Formats: sequence, C-alpha cells, structure tokens
Amino acid sequence: MNKHYEIPDPFQTFVAKKYANAKGYIHDFFTGEWSYKCLTCKEDLFAPSRKIMTKIRLYHTRNECTGGY
Ligand SMILES: [Zn+2]
Repeated sequence: MNKHYEIPDPFQTFVAKKYANAKGYIHDFFTGEWSYKCLTCKEDLFAPSRKIMTKIRLYHTRNECTGGY
C-alpha cells in the first residue's frame, strides 16, 4: 500500500467529512470544482459549488437520463 502522506493531514480529514455528507459529490480542492458521477448513465457532471452541483444533478436526472424516476 502506497502512503503519500507521513503525517495525517487535517485538511484531508475535512474533505473526507465533506465527502461523506455530499451524496457522492467529490470536491477537487485544487480546482475548486465539484464533480459527481451519475449512477445511472455514468456521466461525469461538474459544478463550481456544491449548491450548483445539486441543481445540475437534479436537472440531469429529471431531463437528461431520468435516473431514479
Ligand atoms: Zn445520468
């Protein structure tokens, strides 16, 4: 197993917590973008914030692949 960080990074813990609360949303700290892979059609969605990601995800599932409905 590769270990990139010798010291536990508090920010990594923070991101992991956010990730756990974000319904599968992934936050890229370096670009500031949120990404989400649609579980139905496997398409990757991107948004500048978590709030916008929720809108994009709902729009996508309702209008583009109707996943989960
Ligand atoms: Zn989809």
